Amino acid sequence: MTSIRTGFNNSPLGDGGIVIIGAGLVGSLLSIYLSKRGYKVKIFERRTDMRKEKISAGRSINLALSDRGLLALEKVGLVDEVKKISIPMNGRYIHNADGTTVVQPYGKEEQYINSVSRATLNMLLMDMAEQHGVDIFFEVKCTAIDWKKNAITFESGTSHNQWMVEADLIFGADGAFSAARLQHQLQHDKFDYQQFYIDCGYKELTIPATANGEFAMHVNALHIWPRKDYMLIALPNLDKTFTCTLFFPFEGEQSFSALDTKEKVEHFFNETFTDAVALMPTLSDDFFNNPTSALVTVKCFPWVREDKFALIGDAAHAIVPFFGQGMNCGFEDCRILDELIQKHDHDWAKILGEYQILRKPDADAIADLAVNNFTEMRERTADPKFLLQKKIEAKLHEKYPDKWIPAYSQVTFNPQIRYSEALNQGQKQEAIMQEVMKMADIENEWENEAILNNIISKLQI
Ligand SMILES: Cc1cc2nc3c(=O)[nH]c(=O)nc-3n(C[C@H](O)[C@H](O)[C@H](O)COP(=O)(O)OP(=O)(O)OC[C@H]3O[C@@H](n4cnc5c(N)ncnc54)[C@H](O)[C@@H]3O)c2cc1C
Repeated sequence: MTSIRTGFNNSPLGDGGIVIIGAGLVGSLLSIYLSKRGYKVKIFERRTDMRKEKISAGRSINLALSDRGLLALEKVGLVDEVKKISIPMNGRYIHNADGTTVVQPYGKEEQYINSVSRATLNMLLMDMAEQHGVDIFFEVKCTAIDWKKNAITFESGTSHNQWMVEADLIFGADGAFSAARLQHQLQHDKFDYQQFYIDCGYKELTIPATANGEFAMHVNALHIWPRKDYMLIALPNLDKTFTCTLFFPFEGEQSFSALDTKEKVEHFFNETFTDAVALMPTLSDDFFNNPTSALVTVKCFPWVREDKFALIGDAAHAIVPFFGQGMNCGFEDCRILDELIQKHDHDWAKILGEYQILRKPDADAIADLAVNNFTEMRERTADPKFLLQKKIEAKLHEKYPDKWIPAYSQVTFNPQIRYSEALNQGQKQEAIMQEVMKMADIENEWENEAILNNIISKLQI
């Protein structure tokens, strides 16, 4: 086995250097932050270079990028580039089972989230990383880490050759099923680890552009077909298509395993997603060609080893996608870490120590918020009572902008509010609203000044 030392001249780490495992969204952004701070960084990525490959069907997921992610991109000067490849989505466009539709704005008029292609964003970040002097090596998989030497064993994807890379500082940015995290866990006395799957999986489907080359539905929205135990969503792409994602039980009467023929798929979609199916000419092919994937939450601790190693992004905290925050949270990890480099003047024992103390409660909070939001999206967005509750909350926010910020807005549009604060505040607000919604004639009385004042006064209790 060959041993390589990642030596660097003029690096704040002296002779040593930084190795990032994984050139996904978070690893690539992290490398830009670190190189801007003067470090020479190498990234080792298991996959081939996606800039040279055609992306396979069913893996072209687009993502909702919101203010936390944008703030992290802005700090490294990338926000304008990323906005060019994004489509604003101002609200949820709900497609009810009875054929009616409702638009629910996400926040104030100027507040929106952004649909961005995962692959296009990842490629942009890799290009930028290389422009900042980062070396990215592809088709090399981390298989082991020797913590005494801080040496990582990599295996080449094609030849299965192995070699070792030593580094002063290692980041595990290798996603939800992180090999770096496993190595950390296996050689740690008291490592807390929790992993749980929800009973639904997901599958990507497509709504192509119309024959005239236009979007087939309203473009500036996240479309949702809530159906209680499951839902379909659709986000717009720059090529005028929509990527749909079906979140659906694995087993049961209505489940992936039950839909085992083209006829059953078409019958189910015709009955359940009538307006969508008319726009999906390749539905049954997509359904059987595209993979069905699972959704996992991972919580663990500690995330760091002294001044030598840290987990970041999904490797530290994988969450389900129902708040659209996994990538945003990982990008925020990078921004916070960068602030700590400044604060502790490159003292990595202090930086990593404070990083995990700060980020762990926030990652746990967004993990819980994300699981809860699945119930909200699939069950409650079709409920008129819930829609009224959201209207009242929007009114409260308009009248008392500093006192009542809806939980969704706290998470999505207010990066200065920590996820853990948003969870606490959101729980308090929800308890108050549950009582409000029980009030007699609330449907007609909700704009009454006295009622709104009374709601606000409860926040102080
Ligand atoms: C269906 C779905 C929808 C989502 N929607 C949203 C959304 O709307 N908004 C949002 O903010 N987030 C969303 N997310 C979450 C988001 O995708 C993740 O949080 C984000 O990709 C995390 O980035 P990462 O770089 O930490 O991990 P990843 O993107 O998983 O990247 C990890 C990288 O490490 C590489 N790697 C893995 N193992 C090794 C190894 N042993 N050696 C070397 N390299 C390795 C991988 O090939 C990959 O390139 C969604 C997730 C899913 C599943």
